[in-house]
Amino acid sequence: MKNIIIYLIITICLISGIWLGINNHKEEKKGKRSTEELKLKKLKNVNKEIDYFRDEHLDRYIAYQEKNPSLKTEDIIKRVNIGLDKSYYEETKKTPYHNKDYILVNKYISMEDNYIPNHLEDLDLSYSRSGMKLVHTAKTALEKMVTAAKEEGYMIRVMSSYRSYNYQVNLYNKYVQNDGKEAADTYSARPGYSEHQTGLCIDIDDGIVNYTDFEQSKSFKWMQENAHKYGFILRYPKDKSEITGYTYESWHYRYVGKKIASYIKKHNITFDEYYVMFIENKY
Ligand SMILES: [Zn+2]
Repeated sequence: MKNIIIYLIITICLISGIWLGINNHKEEKKGKRSTEELKLKKLKNVNKEIDYFRDEHLDRYIAYQEKNPSLKTEDIIKRVNIGLDKSYYEETKKTPYHNKDYILVNKYISMEDNYIPNHLEDLDLSYSRSGMKLVHTAKTALEKMVTAAKEEGYMIRVMSSYRSYNYQVNLYNKYVQNDGKEAADTYSARPGYSEHQTGLCIDIDDGIVNYTDFEQSKSFKWMQENAHKYGFILRYPKDKSEITGYTYESWHYRYVGKKIASYIKKHNITFDEYYVMFIENKY
């Protein structure tokens, strides 16, 4: 009899212990869920509408929103996904997209030191400085664009295009020596972070003004209206420095293909934004 009572007591203790344990766990889970729900509410529950919303960035979204209360929620998501809540070069990753028109390179995403794009071809001297190369697809598009511009009386001349990693090492070091690292970082890319290493971009002039004054030329106006039709975008626009991380470059154009270029032009966004909206984690 005594044994039975002891046995019963032990069983009751065990069962209630388990029950309490389960309940505690449930409460904990509920607590966690409601904090998350509160955070999402602060972000107007955009996670339901925006498919590039990333759960793992939730706290960063909230922090960025607190610092930038005037920004639209959608822009907060985009900017944090780009990495803009962190300093340039603070937390970087290597691009997973080699030899694609939609490869993105900026102050958060770099290429391998030894990355050399496939199908690099020499540019013709009729529209380029000597020794210039581009990836085949970009070169073909460029030639169509140059021809179209010429037919309408505008000159487009390539002053710089593909640059190797080592070339960028020398260029960047020279800038650092002249102006210091902080200043150099505002206008020059660090080696591995230069879009020129992709073989998909060009610096151009009109054969008359210096390329840094390209904005003053008639060819610039023509490019503004027509570049997207050939798959090119103005990569570092005037009013987008805080997104691209680069000061305005009226002469620097990037080949992304017609579809992407047209979307970017129509919606007045940067390629960095397009990338986090439509490319990242989707290909
Ligand atoms: Zn450039």
